[in-house]
Amino acid sequence: MNRKNKLNPLAINNSKRAVEFIDSFDYILCDCDGVLWVNNSAVPGVPQALNKFRRLGKKIIFATNNSTKTREEFMNKLRKLGYIAYMDELFPTSYSTAVYLKSIDFEGKAFILGSSGLAKELNKVGIESIGIGPDLTPNHWNPGMAEFELDPDVRAVIIGFDNQLSFPKLAKACSYLKRRDCLFIASNLDETYPSPEPGVVVPGPGAYVAAIEAVVDKKPIVLGKPGTFFFKCIRHIHPDIDPKRTVMIGDRLTTDMVFGHNNGLKTLHVQSGLGSFEEMVGFMKSPQPEHHQCVPDYYANSLAQFLQFL
Ligand SMILES: [Mg+2]
Repeated sequence: MNRKNKLNPLAINNSKRAVEFIDSFDYILCDCDGVLWVNNSAVPGVPQALNKFRRLGKKIIFATNNSTKTREEFMNKLRKLGYIAYMDELFPTSYSTAVYLKSIDFEGKAFILGSSGLAKELNKVGIESIGIGPDLTPNHWNPGMAEFELDPDVRAVIIGFDNQLSFPKLAKACSYLKRRDCLFIASNLDETYPSPEPGVVVPGPGAYVAAIEAVVDKKPIVLGKPGTFFFKCIRHIHPDIDPKRTVMIGDRLTTDMVFGHNNGLKTLHVQSGLGSFEEMVGFMKSPQPEHHQCVPDYYANSLAQFLQFL
């Protein structure tokens, strides 16, 4: 697709275009939060739409930046919400993080600012971790008085979504990263997570990474979208994926669409989650070339829109 077309995304608003779109790919890489569900409710009509794609012979990969759960836990959530899902289709960043550390023969412990899904996936590949849950270190945190023990075996700090983030945890993450040989790993850089209340902001791993980057002289290795390792991880399990015959479906323009662009995939933006039509138009009109990578090839209100055209 040339640059001119790239900046003119096509609406899925009639049967002809929906069929053309469907015929153009074999694999779907589907984001989860904001596309399949918002919090614990399925987006209406989307289980039926995705199951219809499957009946049409499309192969589906669940590609989520979410690292809070293991593959099994995500599979169970999908099934509970009415989706068909199998283990080899599940790619949360808890899993891609474990795959990455295994691929580099990581030795040592990991300190996690994140949720139990990360610790469980690391445990499956034989990596011990610390840091999950509230940090109950006694309160000696005034400047000049901080006293806490650091584990000598920690060789990686891993950032995921952590709803128990605290000053002690942040101080420990920064302290470990002062070590020359300590890896700085981000499961993803999502700044926020979807919230059911329009006025409520839920800060994500991108916010904690920015806080740490302000202190330590290291850049994180990013193992989710929009990075390229995430796609390598998927292709390792599904070597028959042809990027030209694959579509990335997502709600977040700055990660899902950029991920598609970075890996040579088609992109469909669904406006059932974080990214809006107005934001998409803003990126189309932006004078900054890097914003053009956020512009999808196609857009729709939701995946459920396909039900009326197929
Ligand atoms: Mg999303």
